[in-house]
Amino acid sequence: MTEGEASVEQGETHDIVDLFVIGGGINGCGIARDAVGRGLRVELAEMNDLASATSSASTKLFHGGLRYLEYWEVRLVREALIERETLLRAMPHISWPMRFVLPYHSDMRFDGDTPTSKVLNIFMPWMKGRRPAWLIRFGLFLYDNLGGRKILKGTTSLSLSGTPEGAPLEDRFEKAFEYSDCWIEDSRLVVLNARDAQARGAKINVRTKVVSAEQSDGIWNVTLEQQDGSQRVVQARMLINAGGPWVENVIRNTVRSNSTDGVRLVRGSHIVTRKLYDHDKCYFFQGEDGRIIFTIPYETDFTLIGTTDADHEDVSQKPVCTPEEQTYLLNFASKYLKEDISDDDVVWTYSGVRPLYNDGASSATAATRDYVLKVDKSSGAPILNVFGGKITTYRKLAESALEKIAGVLPDTGKPWTAGVPLPGGDFPVDGGDALKQRLSAQFPFLDDVWAARLIKAYGLDAFDLLGDAASIADLGQSFGFNLTEREVRWLVDHEFAQTAEDIVWRRSKLGLRLTTEEIDALDAWLTTATQHTV
Ligand SMILES: Cc1cc2nc3c(=O)[nH]c(=O)nc-3n(C[C@H](O)[C@H](O)[C@H](O)COP(=O)(O)OP(=O)(O)OC[C@H]3O[C@@H](n4cnc5c(N)ncnc54)[C@H](O)[C@@H]3O)c2cc1C
Repeated sequence: MTEGEASVEQGETHDIVDLFVIGGGINGCGIARDAVGRGLRVELAEMNDLASATSSASTKLFHGGLRYLEYWEVRLVREALIERETLLRAMPHISWPMRFVLPYHSDMRFDGDTPTSKVLNIFMPWMKGRRPAWLIRFGLFLYDNLGGRKILKGTTSLSLSGTPEGAPLEDRFEKAFEYSDCWIEDSRLVVLNARDAQARGAKINVRTKVVSAEQSDGIWNVTLEQQDGSQRVVQARMLINAGGPWVENVIRNTVRSNSTDGVRLVRGSHIVTRKLYDHDKCYFFQGEDGRIIFTIPYETDFTLIGTTDADHEDVSQKPVCTPEEQTYLLNFASKYLKEDISDDDVVWTYSGVRPLYNDGASSATAATRDYVLKVDKSSGAPILNVFGGKITTYRKLAESALEKIAGVLPDTGKPWTAGVPLPGGDFPVDGGDALKQRLSAQFPFLDDVWAARLIKAYGLDAFDLLGDAASIADLGQSFGFNLTEREVRWLVDHEFAQTAEDIVWRRSKLGLRLTTEEIDALDAWLTTATQHTV
C-alpha cells in the first residue's frame, strides 16, 4: 500500500492528523514538507493544480529584492539574501545564478514615495528625485554583504560602450553596475516540495477544495470536496491556512473566524517576447515612477519582462495581463532598448496576485512583501494564517510556521530542511553540465536541447524518467517538440499532473513550443490514458 492509500484510510477511519494544510502553493507545500519531516501527520488539499495560483506567476527569482532596500526592509532583504545560496545548493537543477545589469544615467529621476526618496529630498533637495551613483553603489555594497554570499559573484562596474551588455541599449547609457541573484523554476519548486512531502508520508490531495472547517472539542472537522462533487471529512488538530490570495476568504467563509486580519491583493503581470538580445544576462531597469522592471532571458528563445503592481479587488476574478499593463511594460522597456518593442513582439503573458498582509500602505508598490504569520484560536481550535512572503523565503517561512506551531502542538521537532536537496537535486551547484553530458552519453538519442531541458527540469531524476529506453521509439508517443509519452507518464505518476495545462504551463513551459492542436491532443490522450492505466 502506498503512502497515499494509507492516508485515505486515515480519513475514512477518522484518525486525526496533526496539521491540515489548505493550499498547494509554495507556502502550503513548503510547510507540509517541513512538518512531515519532523514526524507530524500532515495532509494537504489544493483546490486546483499545485502552483496554479501565485506560485507559478512570479518573476521566478530567488532574490534579496534590491528595491526593498529603498523601503529599508533590511530584515526581509537579509533573510532572502542568505536564503538564496541555501536554496541554490538544494536544487541546482531548477535554480541557477544570474547576472543583472543595472544601467546608470545621472539624469534618471525617481518620483517614488519611498523612505529613501524622502530622506534624499530633505538632505539633497537639488537632486530632485535623482539617485547619485554612489548611493546605488552603496545599496549594491549592502546587497553583496548583508547575506553571507559565498557562491554568487559580487557587484562589478561595467562599461556599456562597445560591450555585448551595452549593444541592445540606447547609446545614452554608458555605465552600469552588475550584480547577482538567482533564477528559480517556481512551479517546479512547488511540485518538488509536494513530492518530497508525500515521500516522507504526507497526503497530498489535488483538485480538492476545503469547503468548510468546524471545530468540535478542540478538533477540526475539515470537509473536502473533489471536482466530481464527492465529499469527505478529515479531522485535524491544527489548520494551516496557506490559501494565498484566498487567505482572507478561508478566514471569513471556510473557517468563519472572527480574526480581523486581512490581505491586500496586488496583481503583477509579465509579458514574454521573442528573444530581444543575445547574451545571457538580465537587465534591471528603473522607471521615473519609482518602479523597476526586469528583462530576463527566458526558455532559450524568449525574453521575460515584468512586472507591474496594481490593486486587484476581487479574488474570484482570474488575474490577466491587461492591455494597459502590456503597454506599460512595452513602453518601460523601450525607454532603455535601442529598438522599441511593440505588441507584435509579445508571444505570451501571465499574471498573478500577491497575497500581501494588509499593513495599510499607501500604494500597492509600497505594501510590505514580508510575511506575517498569525495563530488564531478564536474558533476553539488553532489555525495559522499565512500572509505575504516570497518564493525566496518559503523555506524560512515554513520554519517560522513550525516555530509558531510549537506553541500549540507538542513535539514539533527541529528545523531540518536547510541543506537537504529536493528530489533530483543532489548534485553540486556547478555540476549541471557534467550531468547533462552523462545523460547524453547514457541516452545518445537525446539531442543537446532535449538533454539540457531534462536536466534543468528533473536533475538526477532524468535518469529514472528515461529508465531503460534505448531509442526514441522506446519513449512512446510524441506530443510535439521533445515531449514524449514516457515523460508525460512520469508527470502523472510522480508529479500530480492531470491535464495538458498542468504539463505544458506548470511542470514545464512547453506551452511556448507546442501548437494549440498538439496541446488539445495531449489533453485527449490524458483523458483516455488516465481512465485506463493511472
Ligand atoms: C507578479 C509577481 C511576481 C513575484 N515575483 C517573485 C520573485 O521573483 N521572487 C520571489 O521570491 N517571490 C515573488 N513573488 C511572490 C511569490 O510568488 C508569492 O509570495 C508566493 O507564490 C505565494 O505563495 P502562496 O503559497 O502563499 O500562494 P499561492 O501560490 O497562491 O497558493 C495558494 C493556493 O491555495 C489554494 N487554495 C485557496 N483556497 C483553497 C481552499 N479553500 N481549498 C483548497 N485550496 C485552496 C489556491 O488554489 C492556491 O493554489 C511574486 C509574486 C507576484 C504576484
